Amino acid sequence: MIDTHCHLTFDDFAPPMCSGGVPGVLARAKQHGVTGCITISTTTVDCEAALAIAKAHDNVWCTSGVHPLYSDEAPHVWSRMGEVARDAKCVAWGELGLDKHYEHPPFALQRQVLDEQLAFIKGWHSEAGRVLPIVLHCREAFEDLCPVLRDSGLDCTRMVFHCFTASDREMRLLLDLGSMVSFTGVATYTNARELHKAIALAPPERIMIETDAPFLSPHPHRSTRPCEPWMASITAGVIAQRKGMALPAFLRTINANTERFFGIRVPEVDAARVEGGHP
Ligand SMILES: [Zn+2]
Repeated sequence: MIDTHCHLTFDDFAPPMCSGGVPGVLARAKQHGVTGCITISTTTVDCEAALAIAKAHDNVWCTSGVHPLYSDEAPHVWSRMGEVARDAKCVAWGELGLDKHYEHPPFALQRQVLDEQLAFIKGWHSEAGRVLPIVLHCREAFEDLCPVLRDSGLDCTRMVFHCFTASDREMRLLLDLGSMVSFTGVATYTNARELHKAIALAPPERIMIETDAPFLSPHPHRSTRPCEPWMASITAGVIAQRKGMALPAFLRTINANTERFFGIRVPEVDAARVEGGHP
């Protein structure tokens, strides 16, 4: 499996905060059967740093986009975002969307940047003659974001709602759109009962697994920062159990989903080198 959503450009993954830097992170991931990562962009400057990391490692890919909580970090140089997306190692847009959990940046600004970004993406698709999938950040804003996506003219089946932590109601909204869903370590928290009900609703062929590292370490590492991509193996184990699936079958399913959605090959596990996590 791979970690389909982490932020390797964050300071948490540079020495001395992180032993071995990004190569150390990738080595530890591999030991747990996590054979690659998609490092997710947050601004039109960060996307270039994400691409540099992706280009330096065979088993790392990146995305290009502006996170809603970075909406106020103007200027957003859309042409630069589009340039990064032309590289073969850039496999999606995002993360983009809406976040009502925090008061800043103001919702109106988030909405304006979202509209500009979606319009740019549509134009890029028609110019490039190909479509990249979209990684969505949606926190406490499903009622606002879903209609925007539905009316965008973009293909909602090529979108993933990342770090899903809401309830069965929101799960139904995204399933109705035809979108994918991905889960982080939050799904392993024993007190996340509403989320557990939502997980029960998600068909296995619509699920992907991620960490959102450096945030959201899974149980029992909840207080550990940084969360690292290897911890995606823990979340995969917990979701497999919740879905009543044997781990190998679950991993086959999420790997197929990841390959289909992002258009990449998930590197195979060298079983002899796996120390923990899954074989
Ligand atoms: Zn993220």
